[in-house]
Amino acid sequence: QTGAEQHEFSAEVGRLLDLVVHSLYSEREIFLRELVANAADATDKRRFEALTDGARALPDDAKIRINPDKDARLLTISDDGSGMSREELVSNLGTIARSGTRAFGKELESARPEDKPNLIGQFGVGFYAAFMVADRVEVVSRRAGSDDAWRWTSDGKGAYTIEPAARDKAGTDITLHIKDDADEFLEPWKLQEIIRKWADHISWPVTILKDDAESPANEGTALWRKSKSELTEDQINDFYRHITHNFDTPWATLHWRAEGTIEFSALLFIPGSRPFEFGEQSRESKIRLHVRRMFITDDAMLLPSWLRFVQGVVDTEDLPLNVSREMLQSTPVLARIRKAVTGRVLNELKSKSSDAESFLKFWENFGSVVKEGIWEDAEHRTELAGLARFRSSVLPADEKSEEAAKSWTTLADYISRMKPDQEAIYYLTGDNEEVLANSPQLEGFRARGIEVLLLSEPVDSFWPDRLTSFDGKTLKSVTQGHADLETFPVEGETAEGDAADLDILIPALKDALGSEVSDIRGTDRLVSSAVVLAAPEHGMDLQMAKLMRRSGQ
Ligand code: ADP
Ligand code: MG
Repeated sequence: QTGAEQHEFSAEVGRLLDLVVHSLYSEREIFLRELVANAADATDKRRFEALTDGARALPDDAKIRINPDKDARLLTISDDGSGMSREELVSNLGTIARSGTRAFGKELESARPEDKPNLIGQFGVGFYAAFMVADRVEVVSRRAGSDDAWRWTSDGKGAYTIEPAARDKAGTDITLHIKDDADEFLEPWKLQEIIRKWADHISWPVTILKDDAESPANEGTALWRKSKSELTEDQINDFYRHITHNFDTPWATLHWRAEGTIEFSALLFIPGSRPFEFGEQSRESKIRLHVRRMFITDDAMLLPSWLRFVQGVVDTEDLPLNVSREMLQSTPVLARIRKAVTGRVLNELKSKSSDAESFLKFWENFGSVVKEGIWEDAEHRTELAGLARFRSSVLPADEKSEEAAKSWTTLADYISRMKPDQEAIYYLTGDNEEVLANSPQLEGFRARGIEVLLLSEPVDSFWPDRLTSFDGKTLKSVTQGHADLETFPVEGETAEGDAADLDILIPALKDALGSEVSDIRGTDRLVSSAVVLAAPEHGMDLQMAKLMRRSGQ
């Protein structure tokens, strides 16, 4: 190789490179994300430089091209970005961890295995991921504003060479000599799949060359990074359909940019209908996490599971691109984003709850999920209980008309209708609203004009146990023991009961039922029915007991 200057990586760097290549990423395909990210960064950089230097102007059709060549076993990623001068090639690619090789090496050596990827992220060595799939990498680059081009070549082991080269315009080509066991990265469909997964929303066009034709590989618009005024409702709705696979329009769209201690853009949706397979999916929130437009993961649990119906994207500047799974679990950055995003969604729900009819649509789709939050999220329990809507014994149970909004109540409205001496919010749980509405358990309450909430969803057997009280009023199941009914007068006419008869009836029933029941008592609960099952005062609610039995406990 005449004219090629040979440079050694220092012994230290050589060893580090080996470490990076073998312990950097769990998935090899990520090399492509790193190289495409670098190409996009370089294109951004050139656009920025062109603002003050016309000689570096970006071509109108600037893009990132991926060109697999199966016969030659070469994969080339080309861009129209800033390019690199000879010095930049040496310092950017020849010096691993430009911020200080020695410091990096020390830290990498002493770091626990789970912290290593994080360190590597901090030091910026994404380029070297190319050596996971290539046994030789060639970089030909021409700095924007210059006529000279240079070729940098290395096998990623001990050395690299630099020599003059030719390139007819500014930009960079990275050519990978694909390893024997990495054939898949020469397949256009595979490359397409990787881009879709990891880099779909890179803001520059990415194309893949197949049969001499360039086909677009990415969706291209990082919609969420644009301001509201730049977007039309159609664009937003298209994006909503793209990520949710729904065909309707969102019930709510949250689009904002957080600035300050933590910076991120978010575009989130509350679907207008319950997705087809919603119940079957996992309980984890699937909000997509991006770092500088690049997709990172959709299982960072950016929202609590009781908001798992929310879908969309959060894109931050405050994490490194190659953030590891371990880091995702421990970084305070993510904890802060979670808190901010959760608060924002909750505020949206609160503000939208003032439109009762519209809110009810939401509640019918996802109320059961929100109620899980009353059960499991102590921090938001009271707020969520305040948002919740319930069927009630004094309201028609099967109303489907426009008046439907009126047949639901909030806890606050319930409290406003309570009897003067009433201390508790009464509820009845069961499998089915209609059965509940006709339950004999309600007779005594109805007769006294006391309202009872009718809770018919599975989750309703759990959350009242945790909420215990709302606005100073305790929640009480009507099936739990004697329900304080003596203190309230019966309204209107009732059947005459004869207390004396009970003295004969109760011992007879006890005889007949034996250990099937723990006690038999006279009750104020019933008006027209003869008997009713009750749970002991401090025992489990009846519906809860039934569910426990069903699940074999
Ligand atoms: P990072 O991107 O985190 O800085 P990388 O190892 O991915 O670390 O890249 C190292 C450096 O090499 C980049 O910061 C950039 O200066 C330079 N570089 C890499 N790829 C390109 C490219 N396609 N065009 C211009 N410069 C590049
Ligand atoms: Mg990079």
